[in-house]
Amino acid sequence: MKELEKPITYLKGVGPKKGELYNKLDIFTVQDLLYNFPRRYIDFSSPVPIAQAPDNEPCVIRAELVKKLPEAFVRKGMSIFKAILTDGESDITLIIYNNRYGFEMLRTGQEYCLYGKVTGNLIRKEISSPLILDLSSGESVEPVYHLTDGLTQFQLRQAVRNALTSLGGEIYEPLPKWIMSQYKLCALPFALENIHFPKDMHTCEMAKSRLVFDELLTLSLGMKMIRRRTREQSGCVMEYKDISDYYSSLPFELTSAQKRAISEAVADMCKQSPMNRLVQGDVGSGKTAVAAGAAFFAYRNGFQTALMAPTEILASQHFDTLDKFLTPIGVKCALLTGSLTQKKKALMHEEIANGGYDVIVGTHALVQKAVSFRRLGLVITDEQHRFGVEQRAMLSGKGENPHKLVMSATPIPRTLALMIYGDLDLSVLNELPKGRKKVETYAVTGKLRERAFGFVKKQLDEGRQAYFVCPAIDESESELTSVRRYSKELGEGAFRDYKIGTLHGQLAPDKKEKVMRDFKEGRTQILVSTTVVEVGVDVPNSTCMVIENADRFGLSQLHQLRGRVGRGEHQSYCILITDNNSEESHRRLKILAKTSDGFAISEEDLKLRGPGDFFGSRQHGLPKMKIADMSEDIEVLKQAQHCANIVLERDEELSLPENKGLKEMVEKLFEGATGD
Ligand code: ADP
Ligand code: MG
Repeated sequence: MKELEKPITYLKGVGPKKGELYNKLDIFTVQDLLYNFPRRYIDFSSPVPIAQAPDNEPCVIRAELVKKLPEAFVRKGMSIFKAILTDGESDITLIIYNNRYGFEMLRTGQEYCLYGKVTGNLIRKEISSPLILDLSSGESVEPVYHLTDGLTQFQLRQAVRNALTSLGGEIYEPLPKWIMSQYKLCALPFALENIHFPKDMHTCEMAKSRLVFDELLTLSLGMKMIRRRTREQSGCVMEYKDISDYYSSLPFELTSAQKRAISEAVADMCKQSPMNRLVQGDVGSGKTAVAAGAAFFAYRNGFQTALMAPTEILASQHFDTLDKFLTPIGVKCALLTGSLTQKKKALMHEEIANGGYDVIVGTHALVQKAVSFRRLGLVITDEQHRFGVEQRAMLSGKGENPHKLVMSATPIPRTLALMIYGDLDLSVLNELPKGRKKVETYAVTGKLRERAFGFVKKQLDEGRQAYFVCPAIDESESELTSVRRYSKELGEGAFRDYKIGTLHGQLAPDKKEKVMRDFKEGRTQILVSTTVVEVGVDVPNSTCMVIENADRFGLSQLHQLRGRVGRGEHQSYCILITDNNSEESHRRLKILAKTSDGFAISEEDLKLRGPGDFFGSRQHGLPKMKIADMSEDIEVLKQAQHCANIVLERDEELSLPENKGLKEMVEKLFEGATGD
């Protein structure tokens, strides 16, 4: 076994007990440990004068220890150690709790760097339990790792030190030389040493650039290899056919953005290589009508279309729409879901294999092995960020390299789209159907809840419908109990005279279906739910959306939720209720009230919350990044993509000896990336 692959317990000082703590941090092998990068660094090289230390914000000061004060016992098991330090201009009292050993190590007359929060007033300043750096050590930057209970910064650092020492020269350089020189990268052993034990911030940056590049190059290579596999000759080359039947059968006029997207898809499907197109449009922009148009074109060419949605509710809704649009013009549509009985399923599989159906709508049950198509020419996935890259590739494998159309309502900032959808061409629906009104959005505190409810009642009395969305009320509560309780409260209180349906993720599929249908067909007036209504549910008669604990959601998610209303002819309203009074929360919700542009909102989200929402949750189905940050490292990403192109042009399967290291990196990064 290679040294790097050995379990973490192989290291000195890491026994089975400690090993488990490391496992909690997702560190299992020596390699994992080395690739567990510091969360941040404390730079001791630029201290501030004590007098200018910021209020209540950690900073670094540099001072000489003047005098140690006698130990003070507070109570049994609790003692306080104090010392006076000076930076020549001001004094500060250092306070250390319980740590006798640490205190005894400090020497009067010696200079130290301290990192912590400085408190007190102009006359007396204090710093409690700071991180203390002995200046004689020669280091000026300290890494700070993410920890778990029972593990200290010191222990973790020690383990990394041991790992680096015991590996010695064993870390080999996976990058071909030309890449290192062309992109000015430092060597891997140097990078690993300096990401953990940087001499100064400069070497730290060098190390980081190298590791970020590695990660983004690996990701780019992997994505491009997946794309290449699906970019081969298509077995489904179509020819131009008239689809005006479709246009004229619709109950509305398509927007020019919709028409453009359909013609782009049509043009793609007539090419020799399969289409790989993303239709990105804000909520309500009419993506389904685009999908139906493309499906109709495939049908006119004698091909089947599969449409895959992330949930049963969405699948059945898409089915309803496609059925309505397409059945009258001769297309046979089927809905295939996991909840069908075995018998019905088998029957349906047979029909699909015989070509009895032209358009098959379903959840990922569709990708299961049992399903084979007679002549699959087009695969449409809705809300594809919920599907892993692998799942995408798998469905493509069903036909003879069919065309792919992906619909996404998540307006991903351009920078991120470049990576996630790096393998796709883009059609943007930047126009809403005529007559759509802006959803009026208000953020209120719980105090105004009664008034808000009064307002909703008026809407209901006029024949409209309303959504109420609530996440878990408090951390200890599951979404399920919270939505049930909330629904009960509404039903026994303010809304006792109205019919209420309750929807949550744990309902059996057929129950869910029924709740949805009852709402859609107007048998219930209110739908209380968790975020399962987030994507795509379409009930044009509902005009109110009330969101409890609105500050719990990301802006983009709120925007998605809000997109459930404002889909019909009536003016619609969204009421965000929150008792979080922080400025941050206000600012966020205000953005939402002000703008209805999903792209602008997601840019804001990215700024305020960082890319975590896009990249932390793995919803996008991409492998997880350890060090690269898509919103910051966009320049490196471009370079990495460029580099990946050059590599693959010469060696498309990475089979040359010089690319062996790269190949291993790609395999390792993508091995767990099967989506969820
Ligand atoms: P989304 O892009 O959010 O998936 P949908 O495809 O669900 O949007 O469409 C939203 C609603 O708008 C549906 O009721 C659909 O029938 C309707 N619709 C789609 N295109 C148009 C259009 N050009 N004019 C009017 N209504 C449209
Ligand atoms: Mg939709």
